[in-house]
Amino acid sequence: MAANPLALGLRAVRFAASDEISQELESRHVRQLLYLLPVLGPLFSLAILLFSAWDFWRDAGNAGAALGIRGLLVAIGAFAWLPSSAFMAPLYRCGILYLTHASALIIAEYVLQDGFLYGLSGITSCVFVVAVMTLRLRDFLGIIAVPSALLAVLTAARMPWQDAVNQLMLYFFAIAVALMLMYVIRSFAAQTVELEGQLLKSARRDSLTGAFNRGYLFELAERAVALARRHGRPLAVAMLDIDHFKCINDCHGHAVGDSVIVSLAEVCMRELRAIDHFGRIGGEEFVCIMPETDQAEALQCAERLRSCIEKARVDGADGAICWTVSIGVAMLDKQRPDWKSLLHAADCALYRAKHEGRNRVELA
Ligand code: GH3
Ligand code: MG
Ligand code: MG
Repeated sequence: MAANPLALGLRAVRFAASDEISQELESRHVRQLLYLLPVLGPLFSLAILLFSAWDFWRDAGNAGAALGIRGLLVAIGAFAWLPSSAFMAPLYRCGILYLTHASALIIAEYVLQDGFLYGLSGITSCVFVVAVMTLRLRDFLGIIAVPSALLAVLTAARMPWQDAVNQLMLYFFAIAVALMLMYVIRSFAAQTVELEGQLLKSARRDSLTGAFNRGYLFELAERAVALARRHGRPLAVAMLDIDHFKCINDCHGHAVGDSVIVSLAEVCMRELRAIDHFGRIGGEEFVCIMPETDQAEALQCAERLRSCIEKARVDGADGAICWTVSIGVAMLDKQRPDWKSLLHAADCALYRAKHEGRNRVELA
């Protein structure tokens, strides 16, 4: 079914309002400005100076003075796009760039005969540059405030009031359109951030339990092992497997089996620390990677998981269902110096736990 553009637009605006997405948008926009300033800044300066050719054709008598004003203000503002100004926040650099360059246009038109009559379109088009400089209303208004006030004062001083009002109405209409453009850019950017987030989540998480999937867990594991080895820190791995899970499926159905898997994952994610990594590596098999954990702590943690899982319940057709897990624990050490051997050791310990009666923890 074709997506409704209005619904998509509303969704995008809602995304734009979310705090997390707003923060991500801001930081992305700042990074983009850092790239754009040294490229678009010089073009903006050049465009303001090139307008002088038009001035000489229109009013040769005052064009020299107008060029002087343009040159001076552009030279002052140009430092904002120079790489040496990188110490300043990009938004301030944009503000300075716009203030000096738009003011150069406005003052030059004031100096020229009938300047505002001919020059308003140029001044107005500059407002659209601000829609690229920021994605926030407050910043947008802050950037255009001084040049707009200058334009209002100078047009009032230079033109009959009806003409001045007419010119300013056009100018403020352009501001409204530029603001709409800014919100459209923001909405699309917000939608991109949201979709990227969803994509990343589905690439890293198991869709049933929300735990990390096998691929991402192994990636985290390689990193955790490398970190632990580099700093000589302990690291433990626990492998969990539900006992007689086939019976649960056979007796209560696959939907109940799924609920058992989800419930187990919930218990583990609740009980583990924020620095631990927990993932589903197969049907009813899970792995916990526990950095900064010595053998005693690892066994204690595995025992806690086993006991919490034993107490968990899910609803079946004939009442509450309980289940147990067997756990194999392995420590990173000289015999198991990498992820592959560590996982294999945990698997062997798990096999032993199964062999010795299930619902127990065994150390490799
Ligand atoms: P053991 O105690 O030795 O581990 O026995 P078990 O029955 O748990 O082990 P076995 O490997 O024989 O069975 C695992 C079952 O898990 C088989 C498979 O159909 C089921 N299974 C795998 N993935 C899922 C899933 O996502 N949902 C459900 N409901 N069942 C699953
Ligand atoms: Mg299994
Ligand atoms: Mg099993």
